[in-house]
Amino acid sequence: MERSYYVATANRFEHAPALEGEHEADVVVIGGGYTGLHAALNAVEKGFSVILLEAGRIGWGASGRNGGQMIPGWRKGASELIAAYGEGRAKTLFDLALEARALTLDRIARHAIACDAIVNGHMTLAAKRNDLHWMHNEADVLARVMNYPNARVLDANEALSHVSASGFHGGLLDEGGGHLHPLNYALGLAAAARAGGVSLYENARVTRLDTGNGVIAHTERGRVRARFGVLACDALIDGLETRIAKRIMPVANYLIATEPLSAPLPISNHLAVSDSRFVVNYFRMSADNRLIFGGGERYTPAPPADIRAFVRRHMARMFPQLADVRVDYAWGGLVSITMSRLPHIGRFGDLFFAHGYSGLGVLIPALAGKVLTEAMAGTAERFDVLADLAPPEFPGGAGLRSPLYVLGMLWYAMRDRL
Ligand SMILES: Cc1cc2nc3c(=O)[nH]c(=O)nc-3n(C[C@H](O)[C@H](O)[C@H](O)COP(=O)(O)OP(=O)(O)OC[C@H]3O[C@@H](n4cnc5c(N)ncnc54)[C@H](O)[C@@H]3O)c2cc1C
Repeated sequence: MERSYYVATANRFEHAPALEGEHEADVVVIGGGYTGLHAALNAVEKGFSVILLEAGRIGWGASGRNGGQMIPGWRKGASELIAAYGEGRAKTLFDLALEARALTLDRIARHAIACDAIVNGHMTLAAKRNDLHWMHNEADVLARVMNYPNARVLDANEALSHVSASGFHGGLLDEGGGHLHPLNYALGLAAAARAGGVSLYENARVTRLDTGNGVIAHTERGRVRARFGVLACDALIDGLETRIAKRIMPVANYLIATEPLSAPLPISNHLAVSDSRFVVNYFRMSADNRLIFGGGERYTPAPPADIRAFVRRHMARMFPQLADVRVDYAWGGLVSITMSRLPHIGRFGDLFFAHGYSGLGVLIPALAGKVLTEAMAGTAERFDVLADLAPPEFPGGAGLRSPLYVLGMLWYAMRDRL
């Protein structure tokens, strides 16, 4: 994290103290990423007193490390949602995803968060000619069923006029997409939460949770007793709550930022871009014209010996013209994925949780934070819609899920290469 472009360009943020002694609140939030911060903001706005406990620093998880791509919708496309749930339910889910996008942009505007947010579209490049078939179908379903006319298919020449990458057959452009500086977005949310009355604590790892009548969160030197708890630890949850561990799988993903590039830039008009590969490549320009490129996944806990070289390989394959540019920053983080690629949102009594956004977790946490607090305040209708999506457990249980899953992932990754 320390070697990331985001830390090097982070806005000033007055750090919060560690937790000492006994505390009480209506809501204790565990985790200072987007999910926890949105939950805390919504809860305090509903009149609850809120304490947020972050194990490291605000935004030190995936929220401060990600690609910054704002991609409307869910990790499952509109056609897949219809196939899984039928048109009516799929439309409800899609509308909720659009609400997540609106809530995110509204927070950024309302709290004047300086996070380089730019909404010029997101494009998925077609790595195989066949991809254009599902892309045409997706654009059609989005317009016709979801009433979302902002996506269209570009042929290879049109796509190339936006992104000078090699080996693509066209792309699906969604004009509602965009990108932002993820860490500054998280820090801005935290500053807004603090200004709104949330008590923030950093270096406050929760080591034990007692649930039953309310929630008690224990840290090394302190304790918070609350009516409700929100678990917002995503891939970093470790053993804190074993009942949900089997439904998410942490996967490591890595990024680099090049030196500032001069014209002609590899991406025009500040589009956010990813490709249709199973092991996805995703990239965009930073505010100071660096290419921020993510690519390559690892299913083992140890990072590659040289992250820079590991990701550069993928970048140079797509942008041969950048093979020799300097790479100034390289870092990585853990994405939590689920079997269904839809998030796992729910509750155990007074303890709420939301995680497993499966790589699409810049926009959805704004919605998750909102519906969790709606349920705390007694209106669970929208919470129930999301809780009904609960993904199945990974086969093999907590112990075996990783080796079995790694085999599956490697198979799909091999198909990318073939
Ligand atoms: C490399 C990478 C690239 C990505 N790119 C994109 C992208 O371009 N677009 C997109 O939409 N999504 C992307 N994602 C996914 C997105 O970043 C995540 O889905 C999202 O940030 C999850 O937010 P969160 O708040 O749920 O979890 P996190 O941001 O991980 O926050 C969890 C927090 O909980 C804290 N915590 C854990 N355990 C404890 C404990 N016991 N006590 C107290 N605190 C604890 C952690 O320190 C952490 O800060 C990417 C993810 C990664 C890793």
